[in-house]
Amino acid sequence: MDAPPTYTSTTSPGTQAFSYSGPPGYPTHDPPPSYAFPQTFNIGKNRTNAPLVSSAQVKGHLALLHAFAKLRAEIDTLDDNTQRLLPFIPTDKDRRWAWFVGLAVDRFSVWCDSLRPGDSLSTADDFLPPLDVLMVWHAYMLNPGWYAEDCIRIPILRFLAQVTPIFSSSLSSNLESILAGEPSSARLNSWQTRTGKAFQPLEDAQRHQLRDVRCPKCCYPLTVPYMNAEGTGYLQQDFQTQCMRSSCKNVPKITKFVLGARKIAEDLARSETDQVWFALAGSIRTPQNSADLERGKVIKQRVLQQIRLKKPESTEASQDWTVSIMEKNLYKIRHIRDAMAARMPAEGGTLYAQSPISHRA
Ligand SMILES: [Zn+2]
Repeated sequence: MDAPPTYTSTTSPGTQAFSYSGPPGYPTHDPPPSYAFPQTFNIGKNRTNAPLVSSAQVKGHLALLHAFAKLRAEIDTLDDNTQRLLPFIPTDKDRRWAWFVGLAVDRFSVWCDSLRPGDSLSTADDFLPPLDVLMVWHAYMLNPGWYAEDCIRIPILRFLAQVTPIFSSSLSSNLESILAGEPSSARLNSWQTRTGKAFQPLEDAQRHQLRDVRCPKCCYPLTVPYMNAEGTGYLQQDFQTQCMRSSCKNVPKITKFVLGARKIAEDLARSETDQVWFALAGSIRTPQNSADLERGKVIKQRVLQQIRLKKPESTEASQDWTVSIMEKNLYKIRHIRDAMAARMPAEGGTLYAQSPISHRA
């Protein structure tokens, strides 16, 4: 082992002269310069004509983020009694939070499914879903490009776009007071009627400990626990189940990856070329056009030329085509993605690229 370097001090520690003359003086003259917040900004080549956010919106947003942080702290510190009522709840804080967010995503999905055209006329106080669901909705909007495209492309989300202004406009009006107080009876009633679920997420978690999934091959309905002692529940790291239908053969263990493979295969096998849901995720929104359906169609048709994704000649049914894609790709989401990328410029690249794919390609 090397010896430590030689150290020589010219002054013994503690012997340096030291004098203290109090804190530095602050000037008492010169008031701070006046400041007027700019009302317009340059963004790229454009100049805005008004502030993009108001101070009231910032205040409402901070109140919302504070409410999310408080919710996280509550989940981190659940009392023993609550934990007893929720079997198999993770003790590790991050895993417990992942479980809670997983439940919130399911609650958000059920709520989205309940939305109807007239809902856009509701008020925030009567309509906004519980805080955990607001958190998922807020996180979804943090990627505004995907959010906007999904609201156009996915039928179930069509009405979500229409009610989004209720949430966003509450930021500058009464969101803070809504979050601080008890939910109004109209808001409670709206949530419970739409979803059949308890407003409080932990109460809902106690009541609903099972979830429905479908076999990715034969669509047979299956019921799985969210959590179990083996760690194979739907919201656990090693989730797995199997199809209970005896005639359903050669389907691998059902995992989140296999369910994901089914979802992509289903998207690929939609054949209504004149409908917006024909397009694949991320294929119709460009910086120049918020819904370039023609572009989506060209991309999808190009992707489907890949041999492992092609429609079987023997069938017209989209279910058969979906199963064919999964089987040809061994039920692996990675294989399906690779097959899709093989037909795309730069092996997939970003579909949001500045230079749009030619419609004549
Ligand atoms: Zn099955």
